Amino acid sequence: MADILVYALHYEGAINKNSLGAVSEGAALASELGGECHVIVVGGDDLTDGLCASVGNWGATKVYRVNAPEGLAQPVVDAMAKVIGDDGHGYALFGGGLLGFEVGAGLAARLGAGVAMEVTAVRAQDGKLVAERPILGDSAISEIAFRSPVGIIIGRLNAFEAKETGGGPAAVQDVEVELSPHAQQATMIQRGEQRGADVDIEGADVLVAGGRGLGKPEGFELVEELAKAFGGNSAVAATRAVVDAGWYPYAAQIGQTGKTVAPKLYLAAGISGAIQHKVGMQSSENIVAINKDANAPIFEFSDLGVVGDLNKIVPKLTEAIKAKKGS
Ligand SMILES: Cc1cc2nc3c(=O)[nH]c(=O)nc-3n(C[C@H](O)[C@H](O)[C@H](O)COP(=O)(O)OP(=O)(O)OC[C@H]3O[C@@H](n4cnc5c(N)ncnc54)[C@H](O)[C@@H]3O)c2cc1C
Repeated sequence: MADILVYALHYEGAINKNSLGAVSEGAALASELGGECHVIVVGGDDLTDGLCASVGNWGATKVYRVNAPEGLAQPVVDAMAKVIGDDGHGYALFGGGLLGFEVGAGLAARLGAGVAMEVTAVRAQDGKLVAERPILGDSAISEIAFRSPVGIIIGRLNAFEAKETGGGPAAVQDVEVELSPHAQQATMIQRGEQRGADVDIEGADVLVAGGRGLGKPEGFELVEELAKAFGGNSAVAATRAVVDAGWYPYAAQIGQTGKTVAPKLYLAAGISGAIQHKVGMQSSENIVAINKDANAPIFEFSDLGVVGDLNKIVPKLTEAIKAKKGS
């Protein structure tokens, strides 16, 4: 079947941006396959008709609304397995994020379906979908096609761009799902944003960005101290490598699949300068890089490059700025 089912996560009355990206991608791909993009949402009274139907604006034609706990993987697996079983979707698409990975993996196991994870692009070819997934530390791209009747595609967080189509409201269909016993064993106690979700890197004048060269999550204390020393409108940013590793929140990620910034000063500590990072910060007014590798690509587009160990340089720079400011 050419129809694509997208799982849309929602929180505090809004569909998650990453999910809307998956809906947009699903709608574009379904139209190339000659099918439709359908969305499944799971939750309680917060799932109003208006909220559900709104995904039509991102290209979905139908929304399945399931009354079950939101934010837990197993109820969503039960719901998606039923909908796919009843209506025969050819693909399930997820925007990524931890819940997307968990639901997608569970659904693949349930349906005996092929799964592609950490996908960064999808295309239609000969009436089927082919997913692209970076491998070997993002140095090569593998292509994944599906032999199973259902293909499961889980994107990297924010890999798919949310594009409003101006389409009308999607049709909302309520679906009754009988949850399996194991899906009822977990209860959501509290939902919330991870640390730093309120970081506003887009509006900062000074950004101190940290990469894998910081060595460990605690390494971010060095760049936080430096940003604090700058004071004013300064903030800490990060590369994809470190947010994927859980060292810093996604909200701080700069680059192709993160945010685009243009501060007055962008200071990179332990960042190699991969093209996907560069596209998010190259418009910064002044770029300063600290890297122990004199051949690091970031030096090719820095205004000032310091070759050396950030563990020695960053604390000294912090002290120098504090001294200059007299604090
Ligand atoms: C489709 C796609 C989308 C992507 N999107 C993004 C994105 O949005 N943003 C992004 O950032 N990346 C993105 N990436 C990943 C990107 O390709 C790189 O893997 C990533 O940017 C590397 O992060 P990094 O510079 O922190 O780590 P690394 O590349 O590992 O670099 C670490 C650097 O630290 C230096 N270093 C190590 N120790 C020290 C020390 N003690 N002192 C000084 N320097 C030190 C090293 O010399 C090295 O240059 C994407 C990749 C793909 C395929």
